[in-house]
Amino acid sequence: MINIEGENLSTHYLDINSSLEKERRSPLYVMKFGGTSMGGAKEITIVADIVSGHYRDGKSLVVVPSAMSGVTNLLVSVVDGIKKSDTTSINKDLRAIFDKHMIASNEIGLSMIQKKGLQEKLRDLFIGLRNDVSSASGNITVSGEARDRILSYGERMSARILEAKCQQERLQSVVVDAFDIIETDDNFGEARPDFEQTKIKATYRINPMLKKGVIPIVTGFIGATRDGRITTLGRGGSDYTASILGWALDAKEVWIWTDVDGVFTDDPNKNPDAKFIDKMTYKEADAMAKNRNKVLYGKTLEPLFGTGIVLCVKNTFNRICEGTRITAS
Ligand code: ADP
Ligand code: ASP
Ligand code: MG
Repeated sequence: MINIEGENLSTHYLDINSSLEKERRSPLYVMKFGGTSMGGAKEITIVADIVSGHYRDGKSLVVVPSAMSGVTNLLVSVVDGIKKSDTTSINKDLRAIFDKHMIASNEIGLSMIQKKGLQEKLRDLFIGLRNDVSSASGNITVSGEARDRILSYGERMSARILEAKCQQERLQSVVVDAFDIIETDDNFGEARPDFEQTKIKATYRINPMLKKGVIPIVTGFIGATRDGRITTLGRGGSDYTASILGWALDAKEVWIWTDVDGVFTDDPNKNPDAKFIDKMTYKEADAMAKNRNKVLYGKTLEPLFGTGIVLCVKNTFNRICEGTRITAS
């Protein structure tokens, strides 16, 4: 039996399934926005506009942001700096991470009071990051656990910026840290979810929010072990967060918003002859994802087999394009 905030979940779970599920305002869409879509103030403003448009269209939404582009790579570089005891490089990377988020928070057009609130949250997270870096320093081997903890800050920071921008758009949006929802094993760096526990936690935390018309913004990429140690799902794993949540919350569709029009026969940024694919089956998309095709993380389709949930890949910067629709058959 699990206890969150002192409450017994198993009795709640029954209530949730029988009542809240039916009272949801409309079919659920999980929308994940990748690193380029979260690139800076301009891009996050577009994301908030997309979220607002679909919410006002009457959809229930769960939003899953990635870290701002380049931030997870900087965090990996911080970990490398720790291993080499290279303080100069660590400080340079930390500065770049701090500046990137502060610049976005300054340029995103918030009121003074909203900006102050957001920057306080970002500073608190940044202090947490610095403390975790200090604790891990002095070791040539950084444990998988310490590494995942450090890598988790990218999504935790980007989600707060998107939350502030959505609130400014008069949307009721609240960040939910995925370490409170996605339960995993302790295979740090590529943790495997416990689907049943995740379903219980996601239903318990998210459905009451959806019922009230709130938009949960769930940090991509991260989870936690049963005893609360932060894990990551693997590089590019925010796609997986979205499909896990789509499955757990019985979404109608999961939309992966990225920087190309959808899935192509080859990388359109490298091969000008790559052809756009408008429809695919889960099986075809799964084979492509497992073939280290970057547009979808390898395990993205796995939670969707056996469901009727549609997975769409869409372009944040070309909304008119329908994107690629991936269905069971
Ligand atoms: P995000 O940050 O949105 O998750 P990714 O960089 O992980 O985006 O994936 C999108 C990129 O995947 C595209 O910019 C494109 O260059 C690359 N890509 C590789 N293979 C394909 C393909 N077959 N179809 C579409 N994009 C592809
Ligand atoms: N931020 C993580 C990464 O860069 C996860 C993701 O973007 O999907 O790997
Ligand atoms: Mg990706």
